Amino acid sequence: MAKRDYYEILGISRDAGEKEIKRAYRKLAMKYHPDRNPDDTEAENKFKEASEAYEILADQSKRAAYDQFGHAGVDGQAGGGFGGGGASFSDIFGDVFGDIFGGGGAGGRGRNTRGADLRYTLELDLEEAVKGKTVQIKIPGHRECEVCDGSGAEKGSSPETCGTCKGMGQVRMQQGFFTVQQACPTCRGSGQVIKSPCKACHGQGRVQEEKTLSVKVPPGVDTGDRIRLSGEGEMGIDGGPPGDLYVQMAVREHSIFTRDGRNLYCEVPISIVDASLGGELEVPTLDGRVKLKIPPETQTGKLFRLRNKGVSPVRGGPAGDLLCRVIVETPVNLTKRQKELLEEFQQTLDGSNGTEHGPKKTSWFEGVKSFFDEMKF
Ligand SMILES: [Zn+2]
Ligand SMILES: [Zn+2]
Repeated sequence: MAKRDYYEILGISRDAGEKEIKRAYRKLAMKYHPDRNPDDTEAENKFKEASEAYEILADQSKRAAYDQFGHAGVDGQAGGGFGGGGASFSDIFGDVFGDIFGGGGAGGRGRNTRGADLRYTLELDLEEAVKGKTVQIKIPGHRECEVCDGSGAEKGSSPETCGTCKGMGQVRMQQGFFTVQQACPTCRGSGQVIKSPCKACHGQGRVQEEKTLSVKVPPGVDTGDRIRLSGEGEMGIDGGPPGDLYVQMAVREHSIFTRDGRNLYCEVPISIVDASLGGELEVPTLDGRVKLKIPPETQTGKLFRLRNKGVSPVRGGPAGDLLCRVIVETPVNLTKRQKELLEEFQQTLDGSNGTEHGPKKTSWFEGVKSFFDEMKF
């Protein structure tokens, strides 16, 4: 009997893409699958025909041979549905239907599952972050149960091979008219069942235990940096390796300094007199106090840079600077005498001696004047 054209069987055009081929085959397979059409020879033949067409057209090299030479180009290469040569039916099956049932492998947790990673937020003071510190942290964890040596079975007994899956951990399940592999529901994939569970750990094989770890925080860390402690995460399942612990840095706000990368900033209040006459100030650094020379006629907001008094970055490179911004303070709680002195002082600033004493004031008034002139009030 002459074979029908594969494209015609699947009802697709000759330039159909991979997805279109799959879709067409899936539709036909659903319709003509023998499980859905028991004792229907015609349906079975249609199913075989569609499977064969799919097997050829889904394979790039077979499809190319078919396009060039027709059935002669691929003769004997197709399995023709069940059995036969070429790819087995389950291969096609897994390929086409895998996305419906969530992949070819069995679901659920298998054996030797790696433990989960844990995250711990470590709060540090700025000084600790800058200079480094060894910190003891307590994290929740598990350890192997000593009573049952981690088996989960009561003393004198041991876990038995699961009868449902015969220790395979996986079972074949009928899902509609398809057979799929799944994690065994009886033993949840472990392949073993515990008839009389250990009382100390309720059959878990492990017990909760807070553990104390010593974390060496290197100098120069900043918020967001993290340290990985390999193998300090959650215990693995059924002998799987443990996860990792990530210690995440969170640096607390400081009362004096703010940090921007490797530089530190601080504000230093100075009196109107020190600002005018100049002087020496004591400013704080993370290494203690240092002297800072203020020149005469220092204006408020001026930034003074103290080289290398910032932070040495944890990833290397030169230390940053400490930037001190001076803030000239207006005196408060003045006595009568102090007020008199200021008034007296004020009278000397009237410019009658031909000298300007307010460096910003003159240009500011000029700016305001020209602004109003332009507005033409
Ligand atoms: Zn136990
Ligand atoms: Zn089982």
